[in-house]
Amino acid sequence: MALVVKKFGGSSVATTEKIMNVAKRILNEKKPDDQVVVVVSAMGKTTDNLIKLAQGINKEPYQFTREMDMLLTTGEQVSISLLAMAFMTLGHPAVSMTGPMAGMKTDSAHTKGRILDITPERVHKELDAGKIVVVAGFQGKDDAGDYVTLGRGGSDTSAVALAGALHADSCEIYTDVDGVYTADPRIAKNARKMKEITYSEMLEMARLGAGVMQPRSVEMGQLLNIPIHVRSTFTTHTGTVIREDYTMKEEKDYVIRGVAHDDKVAKIAVLGIPNTPGIAHEIFSALAAAKIDVDMIVQSIRNIEKNVTDMVFTVSTGDLSEAKRVVDKVADKLGAVAVLVEEDVAKVSIVGAGMLGNPGTAARMFGALCKAGINIDIISTSEISISCLIKGAELEKAVNAIHDEFFND
Ligand code: ASP
Ligand code: MG
Repeated sequence: MALVVKKFGGSSVATTEKIMNVAKRILNEKKPDDQVVVVVSAMGKTTDNLIKLAQGINKEPYQFTREMDMLLTTGEQVSISLLAMAFMTLGHPAVSMTGPMAGMKTDSAHTKGRILDITPERVHKELDAGKIVVVAGFQGKDDAGDYVTLGRGGSDTSAVALAGALHADSCEIYTDVDGVYTADPRIAKNARKMKEITYSEMLEMARLGAGVMQPRSVEMGQLLNIPIHVRSTFTTHTGTVIREDYTMKEEKDYVIRGVAHDDKVAKIAVLGIPNTPGIAHEIFSALAAAKIDVDMIVQSIRNIEKNVTDMVFTVSTGDLSEAKRVVDKVADKLGAVAVLVEEDVAKVSIVGAGMLGNPGTAARMFGALCKAGINIDIISTSEISISCLIKGAELEKAVNAIHDEFFND
């Protein structure tokens, strides 16, 4: 007997027909004594549409975080009930549960909650009674009993966490792509599917913009040591397994594992501030107090005689207006010359633990960009990644140039 957790994303359950197909597939693959838990997202673009609905009331609905959670959790509630009905229509007992019914406890950080604990007794009880249990992803309940959502894409995290709490034998994430690719296949013509990738490398890919998995779900997999199989809803091909270490050989050893990109970044430059201790602290603590994540940071000497400097950094486009407000205030106080914002920028990154022992990896990346005639604005690195900020319009060319440089056979 195996206990399996399967997660289906929004595109996999976008219509009632697709929901019926998901139910049929699960029943076809299920061995008689398998216990199956299915975690689902909201149907298709439901979550986006609910956000638009809220914007009809207020342009910035995210200031009402508790109410946003109340609204957004309804999306998953629609898909769990329909999928449970689909199983029963096909003759298999099933029951749907909201996140809280499945024992999902979170902190109170509305719209970006974290799972604190899962007490899945009810799930076990229903599984033992022979039912397929369909659980709403993306949601849990805090101490006060309020719904809390886990951030966009949070159903991945629900599934992995639930697999951990249930001591599942496997955790499969079904989506509209058939695995993790060396670059976004919609952009890079020569992107190829990976058989495996480590948690750390996948986490870095996801953090740097690869949209396949919510970064937190990968963190959760690593923490609980749950191998995550990312695969397609629409084919039966083996996908990509995210795990601690490699177990299979790829056709060839490449220096990097993949190219990630992110076009949802914006650049803020605070120009002409005094080059004295405490200035960086002043700017970035104000941003931290507003809970704004800052990514690439560069401080440059602009005018040595006058002891004046520029501070340039990036934030995600979603945080831009709030970040600008915060920075304008600090800049005023510091007597900055100007605060400039550039939205038409994008970040392209290479990821791979292999670059640690391979000097020259950065030079190869910069060389590929240079050959493609692309200017680099900011560079940043981590132990297993190198990122360049470039013009947004050149992103596609950049991803292809870098990908072809490293995966060139
Ligand atoms: N429905 C939520 C979203 O669109 C959660 C998810 O799909 O994972 O972000
Ligand atoms: Mg997703």
